Amino acid sequence: MSTTRHTAMGDAAIRHLQALIRIDTTNPPGNETPAAEYLAELLASAGLDPRLLGAEPSRMNVVARVRGDGSKAPLMLAAHLDVVPVERDKWSCDPFGGEIRNGYLWGRGAIDMKQMAVMSALCAMRLAEEGIALKRDVIFAGVADEEAGCDLGSKWLVDNHPELVRAEYVIGEAGGFTVHLGGRELYPVAIAEKGMVWLKLKVTGSPGHGSVPRDDNAVARLGAIVHRLGTTRLPQHRTRVADLYLKAVAATQRFPLNVLLPRLHLPALAKAILDRFPDRGAANTLAAVLSNTATPTMLRAGDKINVVPGAAEAFVDGRTLPGETAASLIAEIRKVAEDLGELEIEILKDMPPVETTTETPLWQVIGDVMRTHVPRGTVVPMLMPGFTDAKQWSRLGAKCYGFMPTRFADDGTKFTDLFHGHDERIPVDGLAWGVEVLYEVVKRFAAA
Ligand SMILES: [Zn+2]
Repeated sequence: MSTTRHTAMGDAAIRHLQALIRIDTTNPPGNETPAAEYLAELLASAGLDPRLLGAEPSRMNVVARVRGDGSKAPLMLAAHLDVVPVERDKWSCDPFGGEIRNGYLWGRGAIDMKQMAVMSALCAMRLAEEGIALKRDVIFAGVADEEAGCDLGSKWLVDNHPELVRAEYVIGEAGGFTVHLGGRELYPVAIAEKGMVWLKLKVTGSPGHGSVPRDDNAVARLGAIVHRLGTTRLPQHRTRVADLYLKAVAATQRFPLNVLLPRLHLPALAKAILDRFPDRGAANTLAAVLSNTATPTMLRAGDKINVVPGAAEAFVDGRTLPGETAASLIAEIRKVAEDLGELEIEILKDMPPVETTTETPLWQVIGDVMRTHVPRGTVVPMLMPGFTDAKQWSRLGAKCYGFMPTRFADDGTKFTDLFHGHDERIPVDGLAWGVEVLYEVVKRFAAA
């Protein structure tokens, strides 16, 4: 148990996160309604008027609004309420127990992202309770179904109730956690996220009996294509956000990282630098922000051991950099496999990348507040390799930042390892710290 004293708001964040973790919202099936109701009750207790909305009774979203004077457009605080499934036997505690042990609050959703739902709701409540005069409305949105692609959550709200969730700025998923690198504290804040392009690759060949091998076996040829795709880095593309990120991180580091990082955009050097990077996880993440990626994840071919099928299919999870499209990704995949015969490629899902800038007053406020709370830390703009609800909010014109402020001690516990991982947990002190940081950002920005 942590012995640090927290503020009233910090203690409330810990208590309500425990309660929210104990509501199992594993998606599938989701069942987010009890979590949405819990938050609605909390918001109503502060005099707010939360609304529960959704396409299915068990999959409700909760939206509430703190009114400003309307002279500026709204700021929205957004979090998804569903969580990814757990493998219970790999956990050292009950993933839905909300237990506090060794300074951490343990449970599925502790960092992805029930903590942000709680922090955001508490911020909205405090603005209302303190009667802060706001220029902008501050919207709270706790949504269902992000982990399965947003259909019943942010996408449903944007399609059916755009007037409730239209905002100029959104503070939401990913970013704001501590990365310890070279003795420095970095706080990446997402200003962009990659696009998602799901593809089906199909090759055909002559069907026949397994006893007489042929040289146009579809399974064998698909295997060759999948192997090539899984072991080839797609071409690098220089993007504004990666440049900003690498330059900002480099400025905090000593030799040789300070010299090497800004040169990662040079393809000839990038491979050599990344191959020698001491931390493989960090190297893989860096590689993902320099190129489109195409990861084979599922295979389908044949249903009888002695029959050569006429076709074989592979499913590929593609991710595109800002400025890239499904078409440009497919062209890169075709190039990788060009000597391996004919290949059909079908687009199953296409969500374009989203990007905003650091040239905004909100970015300025985040930086200013962070400098007072972590004088020796540095905020760096980041490109998210994954996707979030920002894909949907940005359809209404919002500029989206991923900022869930949480301070991690330098004890080897990494946010990125816990994300969708076993033993997901959040440092209780870091959470109590984060809710105060978020409140200050929101208050300063919405009242300015
Ligand atoms: Zn998430």
